[in-house]
Amino acid sequence: MAAQDTHLKPFDEDWTRALAVVAHPDDLEFGATSAIAKWTRQGKEVSELLVTKGEAGIETVPPSEAGPLRVEEQRAAARIVGAKRVQFLDFPDGTLEYGLGLRRALARAIRDHRPEVVISINYREYFPGADFYNHADHRVLGPALLDAVRDAANTWVFPELGEEGLKAWKGVRSVAFSSSPEPTHFTSFGQDELNTGIASLDAHEVYMGALEGFDHKSMLRTAAEEAGARNGVELAVEFEVVGV
Ligand SMILES: [Zn+2]
Repeated sequence: MAAQDTHLKPFDEDWTRALAVVAHPDDLEFGATSAIAKWTRQGKEVSELLVTKGEAGIETVPPSEAGPLRVEEQRAAARIVGAKRVQFLDFPDGTLEYGLGLRRALARAIRDHRPEVVISINYREYFPGADFYNHADHRVLGPALLDAVRDAANTWVFPELGEEGLKAWKGVRSVAFSSSPEPTHFTSFGQDELNTGIASLDAHEVYMGALEGFDHKSMLRTAAEEAGARNGVELAVEFEVVGV
């Protein structure tokens, strides 16, 4: 079998508007933002929706201080990669629950942003090659997001959204989860986009400062190089793409 037969499929880039939806500030910056930097440079519109403010994410900083601080760090990270809008839903960090409230809020945002592609991060039990259990908020958000894409397209689910003036949006084609142990697609990018992606994680200054001794620059570079090698390009990020 030829080597290229083992490559994943290239991620479809024939779209103009994406919405990236994650549980916490920093989730996108662990890999996906290099791809986002590439897409915004192509002239695509990418906005970010944070389901929580990440207020429970820094052990040494109480939530009342960490929340506002992490909102600002996320806004800075989003600016670096050229995201158009950054929005926060304010669900509780660490105790996110699957439910109609979450689905309604996500469906509202999807109808508002009208994306063709939704980007998120791994919702499965484990990260590739890691032996620690994935965060509860990540595991809850994935299924809720997939359901919300369908809810957003159905006029008769959450009819109150229609009364708010948000018409059903049927334009989402797929949801792409980065860092999944079951990737299906990849997108390549250049050194400049990788450096931009790294800079977007650097923007989480206080949060990264609390992770003492963790070399995030090497981690992102190695991950991009390994994903690139698996797919016959220099640098890449892989996604599990779920049709909706
Ligand atoms: Zn997270």
